[in-house]
Order: sequence, then C-alpha cells, then structure tokens
Amino acid sequence: MRKPNEMLNFTVGPVMSSPDILAIGGEQVPYFRTQEFSDIILENEALMKEFVHAPEEAKVVFITGSGTASMEAVVMNVFTPADKLIVIDGGSFGHRFTELCDIHHIPYTSICLESGHVVTDEMLRKFDGKGYTGLLVNIHETSTGVHYNPQMLGEFCRRNDMMYVIDAISSFLADPLDMTEVGADVIITGSQKVLACAPGISIIVLSERALKRVERNETKTMYLDLKGALKNAERGQTPFTPAVGILRQINARLKHIKEDGGAIAEIAKIKAQAEDFRKKIKGLPFEIKSESMSNALTPLTPTGASAHEIFLQLKDNYGIWICPNGGELKDTLFRVGHFGALTHEDNDTLVAALKDLQKKGKI
Ligand SMILES: *Cc1c(COP(=O)(O)O)cnc(C)c1O
Repeated sequence: MRKPNEMLNFTVGPVMSSPDILAIGGEQVPYFRTQEFSDIILENEALMKEFVHAPEEAKVVFITGSGTASMEAVVMNVFTPADKLIVIDGGSFGHRFTELCDIHHIPYTSICLESGHVVTDEMLRKFDGKGYTGLLVNIHETSTGVHYNPQMLGEFCRRNDMMYVIDAISSFLADPLDMTEVGADVIITGSQKVLACAPGISIIVLSERALKRVERNETKTMYLDLKGALKNAERGQTPFTPAVGILRQINARLKHIKEDGGAIAEIAKIKAQAEDFRKKIKGLPFEIKSESMSNALTPLTPTGASAHEIFLQLKDNYGIWICPNGGELKDTLFRVGHFGALTHEDNDTLVAALKDLQKKGKI
C-alpha cells in the first residue's frame, strides 16, 4: 500500500502543497517577536485584504486553530445574547454554526435546506423586517457541495441592517467573492483549503462594523478574544505563539498568487481544474445533486454502488484519496476536490481509476 505522502489527494483539505511550500515546512521555525516576522504578518494581512477586496478600514486576524476556531471566535466576539441571527443550515458546516450559537447562547433561527439545495430569495423574504440582527452562512456548504449566492444574501442583510458573516473557508480563492460589493462584515478562511498549506491557521477579515462590535463586547475567553488579537495585529503580532511555520507558508503562497495574477487568476485555475474533471466523468455512473456548485469540488452520487466503498477502493487499490462523507450521506455521496497542487493529468489518473472500477463491475 502507498504511504500517505505518496497518495494522490483529491480531498477538500488538507490538500497537496507545492514543493516550495513543503520546503518551508521542513525549515527551522524562527523566533517570532521580531520586526522581520511582523513584516510577514502585515504582508499577509495586506494580501488577504486585496484578495477578498476588503474595505480599507477592514482588519485581519490570524488564529492558530483550524477553521472552526475562527467560526467560534466570530460567534463569540461579534454577537451577544441580545442578537437574533439567521443561520443557513444546509449541511454539517451550517449545522456547526447552530451548535456554536447554542453553546454561546446566541438566539437564532435556522433555515434548514434539503441536501443539495440552495437558499432562495423567496425563503429569505419571510424574515424581512422581523428584527434579525445577523446572518451566518457557509457560502460553500462543503459537506454537500452547494454554493450559495453571496450577492443575494448580502442584499437581504443590507435591507434588514444585519451583520453579514461569511464562512468562506472552502470557497476563498475558488469562487469569486468581493467583500465590499456583497457588503460582508466578516469573511473566514483557513490554511488547508485553497491556500494549500499545512492545517492549523484560520483567518478572519473584519469590517469596521464588525470591529466596533468586537470592541464593545465582553467576551469570556482568553485564547479566542479578538480584542487582544486585533491589538497585537496592529504591529503584526499575535497575543500567543502562533503556528509560525504555517504563517510563513501562507506568506509564500499569497505572494505566488499575487505574482501569478492575483485572486482572479487563481480562481480561473481552479475553475478550469473543476471543468476539466466534470467533462471527463461524463458517462460514468454518477449523478450530481447540487443545485449550484462551487469550483472547489464536485459532489457525486453513485447510481449503483456505495460512495464509501468507492472511497475505500480508490484509497486501498489505486493510491488515490477522494473525500468521503459521514453520517447519513456516507453511502450516497463522495466529493472530488479541485484545489491544492493538482493538474489536469491528475484528473486523468482519477478518471482512469474510476473507469477501471467500472470495468470490474464495482461501480
Ligand atoms: C473545512 C471547512 C471548515 C473548517 O473546518 P476545520 O476542520 O475546523 O478546519 C469550516 N467551514 C467550511 C465551509 C469548511 O469547508
């Protein structure tokens, strides 16, 4: 069997890193209370703001913790029990926001979507003028591969004067997202998705409105207190020892993206990778049940086999990881990611393996 580092990885994170990013992971970790390291963080902040098209006054914090740490930090620091939120619950990541609200006693109403379905303007209109103060959404519900319309959700928030929080963890740099245009107050992402670095850092971009709320809020947490993080961020620092090595990887990656044409070029690359795959699987016994796909991944429902069995076959006999689903979707859905250091030839390899399984009567 192949070793983990020899597997071809089509999951949705952690994904394969390019050789230069991997090399940084192998270097000594430098001391970080220095101007040199502050410069790296400040550069990361500027590039993040550029790539999401954040307003000038927006600020960025880097949390050492996976994406969920930043989701929790946002729920705790931006909202209070006096708020009344709407949570778009279209899968396991949407559901996570409801759990976070429960834990932190933030009142909410969830809009529960059937698997594969988008939230519509008609659904939202019912909540107009009802005193809601914020919206939490995973703009790409990664568990089912459904991408919601950020502009439509933004208009709903604007006409109701609501805070607009976007978990774009798997969508940042895969799908177009303009923070200023859609009027988002918070955008969250992480190191192990399209940034294709090691897992362990998540990133929060906050609008001026969100910053004011953080400033006013008494938050019962030390590690996830964004006031401290923001104060330190002014000079390119963090309150506690961050994942220094990953922040250096992120710096190299963001600079490469910039050199290669910025967010637009990166999104185009991932879109081409997705379209190439979707073209090549035509004729295979799979259905796509998403109403609106992200460029980040393709969700596939096998018509005559167990999705989990296909995941195991590819892992054990072909050295390929696709992304399995858990819970209720275990046997009906698997996902193929299109980001990380993947090429169109890698798509050929995966499609050839799937065709081989088909020939053997396994799918
Ligand atoms: C990956 C992902 C997360 C973060 O999960 P972690 O395991 O905590 O990094 C959150 N939301 C979405 C939409 C994701 O795709």
